[in-house]
Amino acid sequence: MRFLPFFLLSLLITSMHAGFADPWVVRDGQAMGTTIHTEVWHQDLQLAEQVADEVINIMNHVDQLMSPYIESSELSLVNRQASQAPVQISDELFKVIERSIFYSELTHGAFDITYASIGYMYDFREAIRPSRNQLDSHVRYINYKNIVLDPSDNSVFFRDPNVRIDLGGIAKGFAVDLAIEKAAQSGVENILVTAGGDSRILGDRAGRPWVIGIRHPMDKNRVIAKLPLADESLSTSGDYERYFDEDGVRYHHIIDPKTGDSARDVRSVTILGPQAMDTDALSTSVFVMGPKKGLELLDRLPGIEGIIVDQNGNLLFSTGLQNLR
Ligand code: AMP
Ligand code: MG
Repeated sequence: MRFLPFFLLSLLITSMHAGFADPWVVRDGQAMGTTIHTEVWHQDLQLAEQVADEVINIMNHVDQLMSPYIESSELSLVNRQASQAPVQISDELFKVIERSIFYSELTHGAFDITYASIGYMYDFREAIRPSRNQLDSHVRYINYKNIVLDPSDNSVFFRDPNVRIDLGGIAKGFAVDLAIEKAAQSGVENILVTAGGDSRILGDRAGRPWVIGIRHPMDKNRVIAKLPLADESLSTSGDYERYFDEDGVRYHHIIDPKTGDSARDVRSVTILGPQAMDTDALSTSVFVMGPKKGLELLDRLPGIEGIIVDQNGNLLFSTGLQNLR
């Protein structure tokens, strides 16, 4: 399929409440700088409401641990202190950093949370970006090998004071997984949790799949592909989420660790897979890797599929989704 450029891919989650007599609880909130949305189904309406509240609480909890904008967050503490001496961190933060390093190795450095060693110099709202000098002097601090994790005491250490980390490419997925796990422990078997571009679905809608449509980028009333999903996660990364344009060049929030500049091979990436932490990290990774290397990676990963919109507006599918064309 071929489209004109400047298409934006976004997701339309179609609600199919029809035929479902029992109660759904729907809740919306704000956390992690984005919109949280959950739909919970359970015979016991009170339980469904409790679980929906819990979803919002979990998002706020992860925000308090991992936000770079909250000065008292564990992440902010690590960024201030981890180059002086190892800092002991929570199991949750340890797990997310560990998984981030796993993805750095898998993607040969395309996914790298130390992108923040330069990343903090951008302010997309204020149209501020690092100078050539700043890029040249700091790009070498972007290297996940500058992070030392010690599982014996749950600590993290940075090899250089110029190293910083940011979990914006993976923490929402982690939070979504955590919310789904807690809901399942409470006995809920049918739930949708969304944090910005990251969603996970548990179960189906009473014997029918949840239908997630990929919206036609130019026409919000048209759907270019409908995916019947149950027990699945889905993440989208796009260059239209946080950006500014300058002299015809788009500066946006997904950074190529090799240059410290925004990655510009694609416009958006959608990843499907079992867990949201993985689809989140992979949507950011494939965005940086570009269409060729990105699709090669997806085809090597069992249970993972993806859809890319390239710079020319072409839609590219991983092998398992070819029949959507
Ligand atoms: P997402 O919307 O999930 O693709 O995540 C984008 C966010 O990931 C950005 O706002 C940054 O916080 C973070 N990020 C940007 N570039 C990278 C990178 N190369 N590796 C890991 N995280 C990144
Ligand atoms: Mg992501």
